[in-house]
Amino acid sequence: MERILVSACLMGRKVRYDGAAKTSGDALLAAWREEGRLIPFCPEVEGGLPVPRPAAEIENGAGGAAVLAGAARVLTTEGSDVTGAFLAGAQAALAVARSFDVKVAILKEGSPSCGSLTVYDGTFHGNRMPGRGVTSALLELHGVAVFGEDRIAEAAARLREIEAAPRSPEGAGERQ
Ligand code: SF4
Repeated sequence: MERILVSACLMGRKVRYDGAAKTSGDALLAAWREEGRLIPFCPEVEGGLPVPRPAAEIENGAGGAAVLAGAARVLTTEGSDVTGAFLAGAQAALAVARSFDVKVAILKEGSPSCGSLTVYDGTFHGNRMPGRGVTSALLELHGVAVFGEDRIAEAAARLREIEAAPRSPEGAGERQ
């Protein structure tokens, strides 16, 4: 059975910067939870940040790939540099994904860690722009398909494709 990495806040865990959750009521997620497929994970907490914590955004409208390349920082509303914690959380997420041979992740859209299509633009004015969060960028770089919580049907379709694909004993678990 394919396992799925999922943002812990979508599973009701109160790990967001404001101490709240963003619980998803999606029926597919509930079914996958029953099947034991889901691996809830919060990169920011696993990277060492507390709950609650100051909101953070990637500076200058950059995305997670720029942070991974050392070309952009993640800054809090107070101007503190939390790039190291975001990178540590992304690496921890990748380690978990690898250990469970995860190929599909469902992560909270818009987050500077978990966003897969959009992130905030670094101004703390609530403006979203196209881009990935740091964890999402690292997972995609290593062959994990990341979907936001509004694209769970797409994630399900990808999962069906993966589970329907024939596997050779040598090829099982290989990544793209
Ligand atoms: S880092 Fe991801 S899992 Fe953690 S609170 Fe933010 S969006 Fe949710």
